[in-house]
Amino acid sequence: MSDANAPFSRVDALNHEALAAIDARGMLQALDMARAAQAAGEVPVGAVVLDASGAVLGRGFNRCIADHDPTGHAEIVALREAARACGNYRLPGLALYVTLEPCAMCIGAMLHARLARVVYGATDPKTGACGSVLDVPAIGVLNHHTTVVGGVMADACAGVLQSFFRDRRRAARERRIMPNPVADG
Ligand code: ZN
Repeated sequence: MSDANAPFSRVDALNHEALAAIDARGMLQALDMARAAQAAGEVPVGAVVLDASGAVLGRGFNRCIADHDPTGHAEIVALREAARACGNYRLPGLALYVTLEPCAMCIGAMLHARLARVVYGATDPKTGACGSVLDVPAIGVLNHHTTVVGGVMADACAGVLQSFFRDRRRAARERRIMPNPVADG
Protein backbone atom coordinates (compact mmCIF):
# COMPACT_ATOMS: atom_id res chain seq x y z
CA MET A 1 0.00 0.00 0.00
CA SER A 2 1.18 3.52 -0.60
CA ASP A 3 1.55 5.66 2.49
CA ALA A 4 -0.66 8.45 1.15
CA ASN A 5 -3.58 6.08 0.70
CA ALA A 6 -3.28 4.19 3.94
CA PRO A 7 -6.42 4.61 6.05
CA PHE A 8 -5.65 6.28 9.37
CA SER A 9 -6.86 3.14 11.08
CA ARG A 10 -3.70 1.50 9.72
CA VAL A 11 -1.49 4.54 10.04
CA ASP A 12 0.31 3.14 13.07
CA ALA A 13 1.90 0.62 10.71
CA LEU A 14 3.58 3.38 8.69
CA ASN A 15 7.24 4.12 9.19
CA HIS A 16 8.21 6.94 11.47
CA GLU A 17 9.11 9.38 8.69
CA ALA A 18 5.84 8.88 6.81
CA LEU A 19 3.85 9.34 10.00
CA ALA A 20 5.81 12.47 10.97
CA ALA A 21 5.15 13.97 7.53
CA ILE A 22 1.41 13.27 7.77
CA ASP A 23 1.27 14.73 11.27
CA ALA A 24 3.23 17.85 10.33
CA ARG A 25 0.90 18.49 7.38
CA GLY A 26 -2.18 18.14 9.55
CA MET A 27 -0.81 20.29 12.35
CA LEU A 28 0.17 23.12 9.99
CA GLN A 29 -3.45 23.27 8.87
CA ALA A 30 -4.65 23.27 12.48
CA LEU A 31 -2.23 26.14 13.18
CA ASP A 32 -3.78 28.10 10.30
CA MET A 33 -7.14 27.69 12.03
CA ALA A 34 -5.66 28.82 15.36
CA ARG A 35 -4.47 32.00 13.67
CA ALA A 36 -7.97 32.49 12.26
CA ALA A 37 -9.29 32.27 15.83
CA GLN A 38 -6.79 34.87 16.93
CA ALA A 39 -7.85 37.21 14.12
CA ALA A 40 -11.45 36.80 15.32
CA GLY A 41 -10.50 37.66 18.90
CA GLU A 42 -11.00 34.13 20.18
CA VAL A 43 -8.52 32.06 22.16
CA PRO A 44 -6.32 30.73 19.33
CA VAL A 45 -6.96 27.01 19.16
CA GLY A 46 -7.52 25.39 15.76
CA ALA A 47 -8.50 21.94 14.55
CA VAL A 48 -8.91 20.06 11.27
CA VAL A 49 -10.29 16.63 10.41
CA LEU A 50 -8.43 14.88 7.60
CA ASP A 51 -8.79 11.62 5.77
CA ALA A 52 -5.73 9.53 5.07
CA SER A 53 -5.21 11.16 1.66
CA GLY A 54 -4.89 14.52 3.42
CA ALA A 55 -8.28 15.84 2.27
CA VAL A 56 -9.80 18.27 4.77
CA LEU A 57 -13.31 17.20 5.81
CA GLY A 58 -13.76 19.58 8.72
CA ARG A 59 -12.18 22.74 10.10
CA GLY A 60 -12.79 24.63 13.27
CA PHE A 61 -11.48 27.26 15.58
CA ASN A 62 -12.69 28.42 18.96
CA ARG A 63 -16.04 30.20 18.61
CA CYS A 64 -17.15 30.30 22.24
CA ILE A 65 -17.31 34.09 22.46
CA ALA A 66 -18.85 34.79 19.05
CA ASP A 67 -21.46 32.04 19.37
CA HIS A 68 -22.13 32.40 23.12
CA ASP A 69 -21.46 28.68 23.19
CA PRO A 70 -19.54 26.87 25.92
CA THR A 71 -19.22 23.88 23.57
CA GLY A 72 -17.77 25.99 20.75
CA HIS A 73 -14.27 24.55 21.00
CA ALA A 74 -12.23 24.09 17.83
CA GLU A 75 -12.49 20.30 17.91
CA ILE A 76 -16.30 20.29 18.26
CA VAL A 77 -16.68 22.75 15.37
CA ALA A 78 -14.39 20.63 13.16
CA LEU A 79 -16.08 17.35 14.17
CA ARG A 80 -19.54 18.73 13.34
CA GLU A 81 -18.37 19.89 9.92
CA ALA A 82 -16.70 16.55 9.17
CA ALA A 83 -19.71 14.53 10.32
CA ARG A 84 -22.00 16.60 8.09
CA ALA A 85 -19.59 16.14 5.17
CA CYS A 86 -19.56 12.37 5.74
CA GLY A 87 -23.28 12.06 6.47
CA ASN A 88 -22.34 10.00 9.50
CA TYR A 89 -21.99 10.67 13.22
CA ARG A 90 -19.13 8.18 13.32
CA LEU A 91 -15.84 9.04 11.64
CA PRO A 92 -13.79 5.85 11.58
CA GLY A 93 -10.62 6.08 9.54
CA LEU A 94 -10.30 9.86 9.99
CA ALA A 95 -7.82 11.88 12.01
CA LEU A 96 -8.28 15.11 13.97
CA TYR A 97 -5.41 17.53 14.48
CA VAL A 98 -5.71 20.19 17.17
CA THR A 99 -3.17 22.70 18.41
CA LEU A 100 -3.96 22.25 22.13
CA GLU A 101 -4.48 19.14 24.23
CA PRO A 102 -8.23 18.40 24.18
CA CYS A 103 -10.43 19.03 27.23
CA ALA A 104 -12.69 16.31 28.66
CA MET A 105 -15.67 17.45 26.56
CA CYS A 106 -13.73 17.36 23.31
CA ILE A 107 -11.88 14.08 23.80
CA GLY A 108 -15.22 12.58 24.85
CA ALA A 109 -16.80 13.73 21.59
CA MET A 110 -13.83 12.45 19.60
CA LEU A 111 -14.06 9.02 21.21
CA HIS A 112 -17.80 8.96 20.43
CA ALA A 113 -16.92 9.74 16.80
CA ARG A 114 -14.55 6.76 16.77
CA LEU A 115 -11.83 8.72 15.03
CA ALA A 116 -8.86 6.58 14.14
CA ARG A 117 -6.36 9.15 15.31
CA VAL A 118 -6.20 12.30 17.42
CA VAL A 119 -3.02 14.39 17.29
CA TYR A 120 -2.53 17.44 19.47
CA GLY A 121 0.23 20.02 19.81
CA ALA A 122 0.76 21.85 23.08
CA THR A 123 -0.18 20.32 26.42
CA ASP A 124 -2.78 22.11 28.56
CA PRO A 125 -1.93 21.95 32.25
CA LYS A 126 -5.26 23.64 33.15
CA THR A 127 -7.89 21.52 31.40
CA GLY A 128 -6.03 18.93 29.31
CA ALA A 129 -7.78 15.56 29.43
CA CYS A 130 -5.27 13.48 27.48
CA GLY A 131 -2.71 13.12 30.25
CA SER A 132 -2.27 16.55 31.87
CA VAL A 133 -5.20 16.89 34.29
CA LEU A 134 -7.17 13.80 33.32
CA ASP A 135 -6.26 10.97 30.98
CA VAL A 136 -9.56 10.03 29.37
CA PRO A 137 -8.07 8.02 26.45
CA ALA A 138 -6.27 5.83 28.97
CA ILE A 139 -9.61 4.64 30.36
CA GLY A 140 -9.56 1.42 28.39
CA VAL A 141 -13.26 0.72 28.73
CA LEU A 142 -14.04 3.93 26.78
CA ASN A 143 -11.48 3.74 24.02
CA HIS A 144 -11.20 0.88 21.59
CA HIS A 145 -10.84 2.91 18.41
CA THR A 146 -8.73 6.02 18.76
CA THR A 147 -4.97 6.47 18.90
CA VAL A 148 -4.03 9.70 20.72
CA VAL A 149 -0.65 11.36 20.15
CA GLY A 150 0.54 14.61 21.74
CA GLY A 151 3.41 17.04 21.43
CA VAL A 152 3.41 17.43 17.63
CA MET A 153 4.82 20.90 16.79
CA ALA A 154 4.15 21.74 20.42
CA ASP A 155 6.35 24.85 20.51
CA ALA A 156 4.62 26.46 17.53
CA CYS A 157 1.18 25.62 18.92
CA ALA A 158 2.03 26.98 22.38
CA GLY A 159 3.64 30.05 20.85
CA VAL A 160 0.39 31.17 19.21
CA LEU A 161 -1.40 30.94 22.56
CA GLN A 162 1.40 32.66 24.48
CA SER A 163 1.55 35.61 22.11
CA PHE A 164 -2.25 35.96 22.21
CA PHE A 165 -2.37 36.13 26.00
CA ARG A 166 0.71 38.37 26.15
CA ASP A 167 -0.93 40.83 23.75
CA ARG A 168 -4.17 40.70 25.67
CA ARG A 169 -2.47 41.37 29.00
CA ARG A 170 -0.64 44.31 27.47
CA ALA A 171 -3.86 45.72 26.01
CA ALA A 172 -5.60 45.30 29.36
CA ARG A 173 -2.78 47.13 31.13
CA GLU A 174 -2.96 49.94 28.62
CA ARG A 175 -6.70 50.28 29.12
CA ARG A 176 -6.16 50.01 32.89
CA ILE A 177 -8.94 47.49 33.17
CA MET A 178 -8.80 43.83 34.03
CA PRO A 179 -9.31 41.26 31.26
CA ASN A 180 -12.76 39.75 31.10
CA PRO A 181 -12.48 36.44 33.01
CA VAL A 182 -15.32 34.97 30.93
CA ALA A 183 -13.05 35.17 27.89
CA ASP A 184 -10.17 33.40 29.51
CA GLY A 185 -11.11 30.05 27.99
ZN1 ZN B 1 -12.45 21.27 24.35
